[in-house]
This record gives sequence, C-alpha cells and structure tokens, in this order.
Amino acid sequence: MNVKRKGLLIVLSSPSGGGKTTIAHQLMAKDKNIVRSISCTTRKPRSGEKSGRDYFFVTVPKFKAMVKAKKFLEWAKVHQNFYGTPAHWVEAQLKKGKDVLFVIDVQGGKIIKHKAPHALLVFVKPPSFTVLKQRLLGRKSDSAEALKVRLSDAKWEMKEGKHYDHRVINDRLSHAVKEVRKIIQNERKKA
Ligand code: ADP
Ligand code: 5GP
Repeated sequence: MNVKRKGLLIVLSSPSGGGKTTIAHQLMAKDKNIVRSISCTTRKPRSGEKSGRDYFFVTVPKFKAMVKAKKFLEWAKVHQNFYGTPAHWVEAQLKKGKDVLFVIDVQGGKIIKHKAPHALLVFVKPPSFTVLKQRLLGRKSDSAEALKVRLSDAKWEMKEGKHYDHRVINDRLSHAVKEVRKIIQNERKKA
C-alpha cells in the first residue's frame, strides 16, 4: 500500500467491551477531520447494526475472495469471525488529508504498524477485568457463548497493549476521550 504522510492513521484497540467504539464515536463527533474506516466482517449483524455504517457484513466465501484479491490493508480472525480493513477507501481518505481511525483488534494494529510505521497506535484499557465483564454484560449484544470467547481472548489481548504507542485507561469516559484527543493533537503537531 502506498501510504503518503498526509492524514494520520490512528488505531484504537482494546479487548471486546473495552470501550473503543464508544470513544471512536465521541472523537468523531468532536473532530470532523477524523473519519472511521468501515471494516468487512463475517460476523452476523447485532440488532441495530447497519451494513455500510457499522460494518460491511459479508459471507465467508466473499471475505475469502477479497483476501485473495488483496482488497484488505489488514485482516484477521477475531473471536472466531473474520474482519478486514478495505484498503482502497483508506488511501483515498489519507490523500484528502483526513485522519483515518481504525477500530480494530491488536493483530490488525500490528499489521498496520508494520505497513505504516508512522501510524499512531492507542490501546484502550478497561480499569479492571471485573469492569470489562460488567460492561460486556451490560451491552447485551453477545450470546453467552460469544461472551465466553471474548472474555477468554481479553486475557491475551490485554498483554498486547504494551506494544502500542499509547495506553489509555477507560475509567471515566470523558477523561479517556480527552486523553485520546490530546494524543492525536500532539501527533498532528509532529506531522
Ligand atoms: P468495544 O467497542 O471496545 O467492544 P464498546 O464501546 O461497545 O466496547 O463499550 C462496551 C460497553 O461499555 C458499552 O455498553 C458502552 O456503552 C460501555 N462503556 C464504554 N466506556 C465506558 C465507560 N468509560 N464507563 C462506563 N461504560 C462504558
Ligand atoms: P465486534 O464483533 O465486537 O464488532 O468486533 C470484534 C473485534 O474485532 C474488535 O476487537 C474489533 O475492533 C475487531 N475488528 C473490527 N474490525 C476489524 C478489522 O477490520 N480488522 C481487525 N483486525 N479487527 C477488527
């Protein structure tokens, strides 16, 4: 991928339920230069999710065909489903000077950093495992089986945070959003 240093590449990762989607929405509401990359996934839509807004929901054969055709900037199997970032749209946004936000898992974050070393990687940490579990349960979006997988994966995902450029604890939401905004503003000054 030809990644020109125009807009920033900002990766937000966390274990499932860590709050990265919530933080992403607030960042975009406060900063119109930030656009979110919409991923493709083979996961089934949750109630209220819309294709083209939350994800592009695709079948496994379609996803595999896209991998083969090299349509993804990065892709990974996460919590037993496939997820990938379409490359074409990202390049177009960066060329326009937009800062592209990737709300993706730690495997994807690693690939983006490898392909674009100037990418800004921010890891969102829940205050504790107990709080993470409470938030995931409170979201009421996952089956008991999916919850089990996500909580089990959270244990190794938490360890991956040490490879990120920044770690932000998502205790009070407004504080976490402020901290991520400050990190982005500092990075813009360097660009
Ligand atoms: P992720 O995208 O990382 O899986 P979400 O953004 O969906 O996580 O957040 C998981 C749940 O926790 C949601 O119901 C969200 O409203 C809630 N949440 C997120 N951040 C906080 C916070 N700081 N305090 C309390 N609840 C939060
Ligand atoms: P969810 O099913 O909760 O929407 O997402 C599950 C996990 O997959 C989250 O960690 C989310 O950030 C991650 N994810 C979403 N899109 C992508 C993507 O395009 N690539 C990668 N690697 N992970 C993704």
